[in-house]
Amino acid sequence: MSRKKKFHLFENIEITDTAAKGKAVAKAPDGRVIFVPNAVPGDVVDIQTGRKRKSYFEGRVVKIHKESEKRTEPVCDYFGVCGGCKWQNMKYEEQLFYKQKEVTNNLVRIGHLELPEITPILGCKEIYFYRNKMEFSFSDSRWLTNEEIKSGADFDNKNACGFHIPKMWDKILDIDKCHLQEDPSNDIRNSIREFAKENEISFFNPRNQHGLLRTLMIRIASTGEIMVVVQFFEDNTEKREALLNYVAEKFPEITSLQYVINNKGNDTIYDQEVVLFKGKDHIFEEMEGLKFKINAKSFYQTNSEQAYELYKIARDFANLKGDEIVYDLYTGTGTIAQFISKKAKKIVGVESVPEAIVDAKENAKMNKIDNVEFFVGDMAKVFTQDFIAQNGTPDVIITDPPRDGMHKKVVEQILNILPKKIVYVSCNSATQARDLALMQDAYKIVKTQAVDMFPQTHHVENVVLMEKR
Ligand code: SAH
Repeated sequence: MSRKKKFHLFENIEITDTAAKGKAVAKAPDGRVIFVPNAVPGDVVDIQTGRKRKSYFEGRVVKIHKESEKRTEPVCDYFGVCGGCKWQNMKYEEQLFYKQKEVTNNLVRIGHLELPEITPILGCKEIYFYRNKMEFSFSDSRWLTNEEIKSGADFDNKNACGFHIPKMWDKILDIDKCHLQEDPSNDIRNSIREFAKENEISFFNPRNQHGLLRTLMIRIASTGEIMVVVQFFEDNTEKREALLNYVAEKFPEITSLQYVINNKGNDTIYDQEVVLFKGKDHIFEEMEGLKFKINAKSFYQTNSEQAYELYKIARDFANLKGDEIVYDLYTGTGTIAQFISKKAKKIVGVESVPEAIVDAKENAKMNKIDNVEFFVGDMAKVFTQDFIAQNGTPDVIITDPPRDGMHKKVVEQILNILPKKIVYVSCNSATQARDLALMQDAYKIVKTQAVDMFPQTHHVENVVLMEKR
């Protein structure tokens, strides 16, 4: 059997661009595209490729000959090992340039859309410590660095609390300082880890499914309230209480301390009982005087400050006069619906997660908003002619679907209704472009504005205003 040559070394190759999933792009001498992680456009590098797929290569940088001027020193010790913050080695203005470029390319190449003049991307003021929520995992299988392995030392305690190594479901990178969430986030996580080590509270072993500490969620709201939820795998009252009492004492600023005992296969808490240990079972976020109650399972945009900017853009684009019926599709906990409520006659929010709609209704009541109505269901099934007959024909539709974009039926229904305006908020401009293309005959794109919510990553939001032709 002949062995095909599987690997190539491409030398002195210039990185030319970025591509999907935050990878960098270069071109092989034969013209095929090479995708590489952790490189920056402008770098000149040697690339070792793995398996060739039909028309492109995937590889990794093995040597840097020239560093791009677009580079900056990553602030984080774990850059390149941790799966988050893949663009930390790129200057922020360059990150914004490539985010903008991706959005525009998608709208033009996928959607073949006729675009108005594009307003420049809105960057974040805070490019670190911008997340209000972080989730960490505990494991007794710490990821060892190459240096540690080479050192030959014996690591008998491999307990760790941090993030999963990409594509390694059982290996956890131990994190001492993460630059994504403000203090006391790092202090809380590190203190729990140290207390657990000192008091022989075991860390989860995901392969053999045993151990106590499983995950840790920390939410720090813009109101200053702090929620901590510790998830245990095994139930051990004595050790659990010792740990939670320690946390409560050491961090009196925690306003909501809760725990979950979850011994099922996966670690999502959404089907689990969350038990209150100290404080309240919720915290509040606040935006323009509106309050949003957030419990352990609630969804809320993870960058509060920039969510406010995003919502203002959506509201400006909708440019409501006060007599309109507005639909807020994929409303989540109804934040956009409430945010625009003063400017419309009536708002109808639709969302598939029942708990989110419970929150939405409760928040609207608390905020004394009486012109919003919320409905639960899969959009493709709920958003029907009957539904519209019952709730009124929308003058404006705001839609904020998940990464997959809108179901074809939802787009068809919008085209049945033909509202005057559509404001499309998207976290994936590729599916947004696909959906907009389906509406292009009936609608004209009037405005498009990209918004960065996640500095140091390749993720980008885009808001488009369409008006009926
Ligand atoms: N606009 C909200 C949430 C947007 S995230 C905010 O700004 O907070 C997208 C939302 O779409 C999520 O809440 C998700 O639960 C919901 N969703 C996903 N698929 C859906 C479907 N098929 N039907 C209805 N809602 C869906």
